[in-house]
Order: sequence, then structure tokens, then C-alpha cells
Amino acid sequence: MIDLILTEEQKMFRETVRKFGETEVKPIIEELEAEEEFPWPIIKKLGQIGVLGVTIPTEYGGIGGGTVDIVIVMEEGGRASIPIPLTHLGSCRDISQFGNEEQKRRYLPPLATGEMICAFAQTEPGAGSDAVAMKTLAVLEGDHYLLNGAKCFITNAEVAGLFVLVAKTSKEKGAAGISAFIIERNSPGLSIGKKENKMGLHLSPTCEVILENCKVPKGNLLIAEGDAFKKLMDSFNAERCGNAALCLGMAQSAFERALLYAQEREAFGQPIGRFQGIQWIIADMAVMLSAGRLLVYQAAYKMDRGLRAIKDVAMAKLFANEMSQKIINDAMQIHGGYGYMRDYQVERLYRDTRGLAFGGGTPQILRNRIAYEIFKGW
Ligand SMILES: Cc1cc2nc3c(=O)[nH]c(=O)nc-3n(C[C@H](O)[C@H](O)[C@H](O)COP(=O)(O)OP(=O)(O)OC[C@H]3O[C@@H](n4cnc5c(N)ncnc54)[C@H](O)[C@@H]3O)c2cc1C
Repeated sequence: MIDLILTEEQKMFRETVRKFGETEVKPIIEELEAEEEFPWPIIKKLGQIGVLGVTIPTEYGGIGGGTVDIVIVMEEGGRASIPIPLTHLGSCRDISQFGNEEQKRRYLPPLATGEMICAFAQTEPGAGSDAVAMKTLAVLEGDHYLLNGAKCFITNAEVAGLFVLVAKTSKEKGAAGISAFIIERNSPGLSIGKKENKMGLHLSPTCEVILENCKVPKGNLLIAEGDAFKKLMDSFNAERCGNAALCLGMAQSAFERALLYAQEREAFGQPIGRFQGIQWIIADMAVMLSAGRLLVYQAAYKMDRGLRAIKDVAMAKLFANEMSQKIINDAMQIHGGYGYMRDYQVERLYRDTRGLAFGGGTPQILRNRIAYEIFKGW
């Protein structure tokens, strides 16, 4: 079904990413995971095959893809554990969509090649789901802004050369007082704080970003207050689709591993895959994967056609987040005690997929959004 909506180019792109995952990442993923280092050599290669520039227009070095293309790369990424920096793709999309010509010319080409990567900084210690409660303030002083505040849980902050950072330019206006900035890593007054010790997702360092009179040129304002927050949230839907696709790919990987293991592992004189109790688990996994795939591609397809897709995206991310946790948990069960051991990789998928249900909207926030869309006007 999905193949019906993909162009020949997109199918070829999917093959390229799949092959890259199979040959360049899968064989070394456990080594990388143990090192817990940001995998720069893989990131550079992702730049070469077009993944880092998937959301960047061709004139700035990218491949000019849409949300379906983000979904393609993230699904393959999840399946082969390719450490694709999703927030980089989202931030590049923001700069491509909202940046002025100078910002695009300056920043997008090195972001497309992987010369540097971009992080997205919005969350604060007192403002997660309730992002409008953020306190970071940017004050215009002559030809630059001075920013003060602290961001937390910022993916890849430690290694990013650039940040798309969200801050208030007016304290009293609520959501209407929020703006977005492009901030270079070496800006005076910007420092990286505590690195979090996470349960999973060990290839993407998660850190605080501290702004103490951080000086940012006026020209680096990306979206001015007014409808900036709405624009960012609309754009955020593409990243939500990417997050859902990543979960989908991880669940696919767990399914494939469980199926193989069920056919190899013997108990009571036969492969465990001959027991109906195991076959039903595998059957349920296949149903959930198909349903999830349809939801995710439907949401991305609608977004690329400019159709209203807020509910579709929220449904896709909610379903994919919860479906991947269930499938990976069941895959671990099929592996028996071995599934709990690091050697069998479902353990890593279990830890990694859990972390994806926070960023881009928690399940509760997504349910709120879906319910709002259903009940509005009532
Ligand atoms: C691995 C990881 C990477 C991240 N990367 C980034 C990043 O790159 N950039 C960035 O800006 N942020 C990032 N985040 C932060 C993420 O976006 C926030 O964790 C998320 O928005 C939730 O905010 P919070 O953690 O403060 O939880 P809170 O908002 O405090 O929520 C706590 C709990 O209350 C629930 N809740 C809150 N409001 C409601 C409500 N109205 N109704 C029902 N339940 C509610 C939530 O669902 C949650 O279960 C990352 C987080 C993680 C875990």
C-alpha cells in the first residue's frame, strides 16, 4: 500500500538509506552504543547520501524532500539503528521554511553536508508540555539581542554547531510573545551545561543549554513574535511524523528479530514459533505494524499536500509511540531471558523507544490534541 504513494525517486532513496543501514551501521551498532560517543563518521556519511539535507531545498545543498521523505529516512533509521539526528532535520526544515535568504545561504549548506549539525532548544526546567511557560528572555539592544535563561533536555546540544532556540521577546504576551532565533555555538554567553545520564538513546547526548547575556545578532532572528509559536508548532508536525516513523522502524526491527528467534529457538522438542501462543503474538505485531505504517504515511502524505493534518499527526505519533513499546516488549518476551541481555539488541530497542514518547508531545498531550479536534465546536 505504502509503495502506491511513493514516487520512484522516493523508493530509490529508501533503498539507499536501507543499504547504508545494513552495511555501514548494523554491523557496528553495538560497538557504537558501548562507546556512547556521538558517531561523527556516520553522521558525515549521512550528509553524503542526502539524509541530513532531506528537508533542505536543493539550491542550498539539500534534496528538497517533504514530510514523507523524513518518514522514509526515519523508518529506515529505526529499522537499522542508524543514528539520524531527527531534531537536526526539523531545525533545518524551520530554517528552510522561515529563514531569510541570508540565513539560508549561510547556514543550510554546512547543515546539509554534516559539517555541522543543528539542535532545537525549547524545553526549560519549568516549561515542557506547557512550553508557553518558558522564561528565557531575549531583549533587543541596538544591533543584537541579549538572551538570558536555561534550556534543558536538548538533544545533541553538546555536539551541535547551531541552535534553533525559542525564547520570549515579550514577557506579558504569552504565546504571542514567543520568537525563534538561530544561534551559533560559539556565541558569547552560550554554554553547555549538565549532560543527562539517560536510560537509552545513548548516541545522542542530551544536555542543558545556558544563556547568560548571550549575544545574538539582530539578523539571526528566525521568526518574530506574533504567530511564531503557531508557525513552529505547525512545522513541528513534520518532526512528530519523523518520531513516529522512527518508532515504526524500531518496532519493525523487533518484529523481524522475534520472528527469526521464534523459528530458531526450540523448547519442548520444537521451535517455539510452532506454539500458537507465540504465533498469536507475532500475528498481533504484524497487525499493529501495518496499522501504524498506514497512520504514519497518511499523516505525512496529507502534510505534503498542505491538507490539515494536526489530528492525523497526533494519532500517528501516539499510536506509533505506544505500538513500538508494546511490540518491542513482546519481542523481548519471545526471546525469553536472552531478550533481557544486551547481546540480543531488543533490550536496546526497548530502552531507546521509551525515550521517544516524550519529545514532540507526550501521549497525554497528543490525546488532548486529538480530543480537542474531535470535540471542537461542541
Ligand atoms: C530523550 C529526550 C530528548 C529530548 N530532546 C529535546 C530537544 O531536543 N529539544 C527540546 O526542546 N526538548 C527536548 N526534550 C524535552 C521534551 O520535549 C519534554 O520532555 C516534553 O515536552 C515533556 O515535558 P516535561 O518533561 O517537562 O514533562 P511535563 O510537561 O512536566 O509533564 C509531566 C507529565 O504530565 C503530563 N501532562 C502535562 N500536561 C498535561 C495535560 N495538560 N494533560 C495531561 N497530562 C499532562 C505529561 O504527559 C507527563 O506525563 C527531550 C526529552 C527527552 C526525554
